[in-house]
Amino acid sequence: MTTTEPDCLFCKIAAGQVPAEIVRDGERVLAFRDINPQAPTHVLVIPREHHPDAASAAKTGSGLVDEIVGEAHSIAEDEGIAGTGYRLVFNTGSGAGQTVFHLHCHLLGGRGMEWPPG
Ligand code: C5P
Repeated sequence: MTTTEPDCLFCKIAAGQVPAEIVRDGERVLAFRDINPQAPTHVLVIPREHHPDAASAAKTGSGLVDEIVGEAHSIAEDEGIAGTGYRLVFNTGSGAGQTVFHLHCHLLGGRGMEWPPG
């Protein structure tokens, strides 16, 4: 499935129609800094094509979720947080706090993390 949704905010960011601080600009995946950062490093890694969440993308068997996780690790290395540790979050569903229904992986790091998350 290669598709975009005209009313989707992250499809618009991927298309360059909404501004974002892009940190990676790949063929299938891009990453940008979260507009409301919750940690010194807070980057969102997203696919260019529209999938509502990680599970939907994983079902396609395209390897997209693997690529997103690999990209997040690579960004963590560039940000200098891979060694100390970082957190990846895929909020899935409104009850879990998902507000943008275009698959995105939160990469958070650069500060201590607590468990359980809020
Ligand atoms: O997982 P959730 O859907 O809540 O995450 C959406 C994220 O998208 C939020 O952290 C929000 O700050 C971010 N966002 C952004 N740029 C926008 C709109 C939302 O980085 N223009």
